Amino acid sequence: MSISTLARSIAESPTLKLNEEAARLRERGEAVIHLGIGEPKNKAPIAALLSAAARLNTGDIKYVPTDGLPSLKKAIIRYTEENYDKLVAPENVIVSAGAKQAIFNVLYTILNPQEEVILLAPYWVSYPEMVKMVYGVPVIVRPEDGSFHPRMADIERAVSPSTKAIIVNSPNNPSGVMFSEEFIATIVDFCERRGIYLIMDDIYHKLVFDGRKAPSAYTYTHKDIESSRLIIINGVSKTYGMTGFRIGWAIARRKLVEIMTNVQGQITSCTSPFLQAAAEGALNGLQSVVENLRLTIENNRNVMLQEMRSLTGVKVTKPDGTFYCLPDFRAYSNDSVGLANFLLEKALVVTVPGKEFGMEGHLRLSYAGTVKDVTEGIARIKWALDPNAPKEIYIGDKRVVRDWL
Ligand code: PLP
Repeated sequence: MSISTLARSIAESPTLKLNEEAARLRERGEAVIHLGIGEPKNKAPIAALLSAAARLNTGDIKYVPTDGLPSLKKAIIRYTEENYDKLVAPENVIVSAGAKQAIFNVLYTILNPQEEVILLAPYWVSYPEMVKMVYGVPVIVRPEDGSFHPRMADIERAVSPSTKAIIVNSPNNPSGVMFSEEFIATIVDFCERRGIYLIMDDIYHKLVFDGRKAPSAYTYTHKDIESSRLIIINGVSKTYGMTGFRIGWAIARRKLVEIMTNVQGQITSCTSPFLQAAAEGALNGLQSVVENLRLTIENNRNVMLQEMRSLTGVKVTKPDGTFYCLPDFRAYSNDSVGLANFLLEKALVVTVPGKEFGMEGHLRLSYAGTVKDVTEGIARIKWALDPNAPKEIYIGDKRVVRDWL
């Protein structure tokens, strides 16, 4: 079989693969705990369901404008005004099949072959693959050991004449860390001065804890949107727990949106109108659903931190948002893939190896599930790794005895 060199070089999404593995084990009746999940457990907001149902009931489900239904764009504009204090025009908005497609479209639209995109480790697994898919070059900037916050000086050093864009994801998947106001202000200013696209992946910006608020990059721009290279990515997947609806968007200058629309028009034509109607329902509906979800996840974060405290030698950086944390397991292993496989085999706990996010020796643990998932999952990890933990444990209804350590 003849496969292109490029396609061959693209890695399978490790997180989607883990979901499949966890589902397979559950189907076999195994008492698996999924601490790898990347989506909240809540049901979709009722306003989203009613809006989608109303659209479906018309029976009129056809192609719609490539850049999104005008009514959804209107809801996105209102959301942007409320959450970013920024008024944008419909021509600045393009709706895509999830933030994932929005980011891919941006990269496809701005990058020439061999141009570089700066990614800040730990980074979302899909960024390097997406950059490669459009013949770009991912350039990874690492934080100081023990921190997940990027340093401006390291970013400046990584910038070359080929740098086209920087992707910033804060609050961050996988660390949960939210970057400081000062950092956001500095990077916005730096990108504006250097003519570099700044792609803000804000998909977790409403899932922030401890009474804090994610800084809006728009606060620090000195440019009008039409002369700015700032691009904001967002969507309904995480904020409303609507991952399966596949609705995200990008906000950028008109010219860019126009070209992204041409690109998207040749690939997907448009996103489904009844799924767009669902997103519109969520954005226009009662926003208490978001606060309820945020509170549940914040409580889970607290439980996760509490449970992790007794795991000898593991360092956890307190997450400011998202539903992930990225503990440092180097006291047990430097090989995160091996460690994740070990925990799955021995303790039936799914974790995501830090290697996938450019952070070897760490595991990404999700607290998007239930409190029970968190407490039991961590108890099993302790049992499998920590010689101080009791030798016996129940996994499902089976009593198991640790015969290693
Ligand atoms: N960006 C980040 C950082 C993510 O973690 C995810 C999903 O996991 C996405 C984007 C994609 O979101 P969507 O479901 O809207 O495509």
